[in-house]
Amino acid sequence: MKVICEICGMEMDYPYEQINHRHREYELDLVPPNFWTIRDYLPEFEIKILDDGKIILPKVKVETKYKAGNTPLIKYSQNVYLKDESLNPTGSFKDRGMEMMMNAILSSKKDSVSVVSCGSGAISTIFYAKEYGIKSHAFVHKGISKSSLEQIAHADKVHYSENFIESYVDFMKYSLNHKDIYWGFLNTNIPYMLGLRSMAYEIIRDLENVPDVVIIPCGSGMDIIAQNLAFREMYNAGIINKIPRIGVVEIVGGNPISTGFKKGIEDYLYIIDEPIDSKTILSNDTCFNYRKIYQMAKRNEAFFISVCDDQIDSFIRDHPDFRARYDYTSISAMAAVEEYLGANGNETVVAVLTCKNRNGGNSYE
Ligand SMILES: [Zn+2]
Repeated sequence: MKVICEICGMEMDYPYEQINHRHREYELDLVPPNFWTIRDYLPEFEIKILDDGKIILPKVKVETKYKAGNTPLIKYSQNVYLKDESLNPTGSFKDRGMEMMMNAILSSKKDSVSVVSCGSGAISTIFYAKEYGIKSHAFVHKGISKSSLEQIAHADKVHYSENFIESYVDFMKYSLNHKDIYWGFLNTNIPYMLGLRSMAYEIIRDLENVPDVVIIPCGSGMDIIAQNLAFREMYNAGIINKIPRIGVVEIVGGNPISTGFKKGIEDYLYIIDEPIDSKTILSNDTCFNYRKIYQMAKRNEAFFISVCDDQIDSFIRDHPDFRARYDYTSISAMAAVEEYLGANGNETVVAVLTCKNRNGGNSYE
């Protein structure tokens, strides 16, 4: 398998430690966007649906007690289904990518990993790393919820930063100075992304027909990249006869990709001038997978649904049970379903509930 830098075209053999290849002109305060692509996967990353519906996942070196995936696809209304990713072992879709990343860490002969996140990504990394006997360094900011912090305290070392941006900068400084530690930057990590793909395969296995649209909260964008890749693979293999379009959910005021797409700015990053400091946004005013999602939209395999806090709050008022079970980001997908179905009522839609409610907090994790 080749790992390719899209900026300079350099090709490296997998496994390749992405932190060793930088393009500083594209970094935002040391944080790089995702400019990586892969060619000719190794068979170890292949996912297959067998005739009896069984899904064959990539092989792992260590079997753990955490079995990610096989989450329920719940019928919500006549033509809307919910993929409940909150039921993964540590409570979010991120668990799907962890075994692949932990295998990569073992292959790299390192015994520790660093991760930056506001919650789910760190929690997932920490708990999987423990199962693999890998030490974890978590970078978080002081504003994250108490219940997430309690989980993150299980890391071997926790680094606290003043705010969201600083946690990323501190993480990058530390990682660049500690290359003996595996760089667990989930926003660009290739084996992690390849692991996430299992969700799309399950959706196709569990639905009788191919959905028209799969609605996914944007977050760092990695889940969107992974599911699009999986749908393309299934299309190329003749398993599905069309590629479901992905509805990328952003919050109004924190929607760099839809804003940049409208303006035709096809770059690696796009930063909106005046992000609205909504309680939901923070991390979302910059998406480090901007270019990849932009290209998906150009191929008409993605489109944007921007929802505002009022729409989310209104959904919560009508569905308090959702608020109890899922985090705010997941509920943004439900607000997006309502927005989308208003004009496209006959389509088959799957909405992805990405994470459980850890606390009643409102962060993009
Ligand atoms: Zn390069």
